[in-house]
Amino acid sequence: DGALMSKLSRPCRMMLLVNPQSGKGQALTLYNNHIQRMLNDAGVQHTLVITERQNHARELVREADLSQWDALVIMSGDGLLFEVINGLLERSDWEEAIRTPLGILPGGSGNALAASVHYYSGSSPVSSEELLVSCGFLLCKGLVSPMDLVSIHLSSSTRLFSFLSLAWGFVADVDIESEKYRHVGAARFTVGTLVRLASLRVYKGKLSYLPVTDDCNNRRGLRNNMRPHRNNQASSLCPASPLNCPSKDSPLRNTFHNSCHSNNSFKVRRTESTPSRSATKALAGPPDSLLLPLDQPLPSDWVVVPEEDFVLMLAMYQSHLAEDLLAAPGAISDDGAIHLFYVRAGISRTALLRLFLAMEKGAHMATSCQHLVYTKVRALRLEPYSPKGIITVDGEVVEYGPLQAEVHRGLARLITG
Ligand code: ADP
Ligand code: MG
Repeated sequence: DGALMSKLSRPCRMMLLVNPQSGKGQALTLYNNHIQRMLNDAGVQHTLVITERQNHARELVREADLSQWDALVIMSGDGLLFEVINGLLERSDWEEAIRTPLGILPGGSGNALAASVHYYSGSSPVSSEELLVSCGFLLCKGLVSPMDLVSIHLSSSTRLFSFLSLAWGFVADVDIESEKYRHVGAARFTVGTLVRLASLRVYKGKLSYLPVTDDCNNRRGLRNNMRPHRNNQASSLCPASPLNCPSKDSPLRNTFHNSCHSNNSFKVRRTESTPSRSATKALAGPPDSLLLPLDQPLPSDWVVVPEEDFVLMLAMYQSHLAEDLLAAPGAISDDGAIHLFYVRAGISRTALLRLFLAMEKGAHMATSCQHLVYTKVRALRLEPYSPKGIITVDGEVVEYGPLQAEVHRGLARLITG
């Protein structure tokens, strides 16, 4: 097939979305100093898109002609990727759209996914500009891995998709209160943690979850709890890239072949019918199979946490909560698990501080803290008792109130190098 061959051999076309306001406001400078040359040297064609306001990226991605792009890459903090993912899943063609390979370059103050991608590559920990350079190289290599997304239902019956974390209590408060220390970069979380520790409080609510069963545990990726293995399902983003030349009969080429194919068939379908915006909204995204409506009792195989007094609840689906916080050392991008942590009320300030210090090396579980509980789940429900408070999804504030979540294994694709 001549047309397909020429498609395979042309260079990659990447949309690179940069948020000039993220982090210390230096994302554009970082792009000019480190990334532009690296991508050009690797033969990665890219179009720079500078975001102008909140939700700009979300709207852009929702309307974009995705057949023009091989990858959508964001250079910002995690907040901009949250917009991109939700923009893709709001499309009527969400099923194909969410297969677009996504990449991340750390340009914000909360660079948890970038730190996770670096960690999955097996390299020793680095931060700030070294992390950026590492992620730049991984991006140029262009290997694509599946990435889990978590569907989250809020009480107003809105649904959104999350790739990183869901937090309530201490962590959510720190995340949002520390926005005002954005100018110190990634250190904003350390400052925020110390400030919040001084006014430590208890959060009341009901937490329940559907545990990961042995059956799920035996699947690839959950075999051991320690260091994640490089994902063996990775496929190549741009076979023509000089840094990445799989052999002619490599399965990676086949995977790319298939993805080109599905893109083409989708284009035809799209011209046939364009559902109205409201219908699109109701239909977009995969259906949840484990969740009942929020006002209905839980299914019998769910576990209800006996305590109702918490210091924090943190659900993670990537390894890092921030550049220097390895919250879920056993997590990989497509293990199909939500790594659920909660800290029971009654923990002392010193013990909580010790937990966060240990988390820098992912050693918090080894501190044998009696107040910390860790379990792997497929779905969860949280019902806070107080009418006001902070809940964050991927570091962004969402509507406060009861919510539930379910993991969708490998729904998106992430460039992991
Ligand atoms: P950080 O890690 O510094 O918080 P994020 O990527 O999370 O960086 O971005 C923070 C917020 O800025 C996000 O909610 C995003 O939607 C918003 N945003 C994106 N582009 C702009 C812009 N040009 N001006 C202001 N805010 C923006
Ligand atoms: Mg952010």
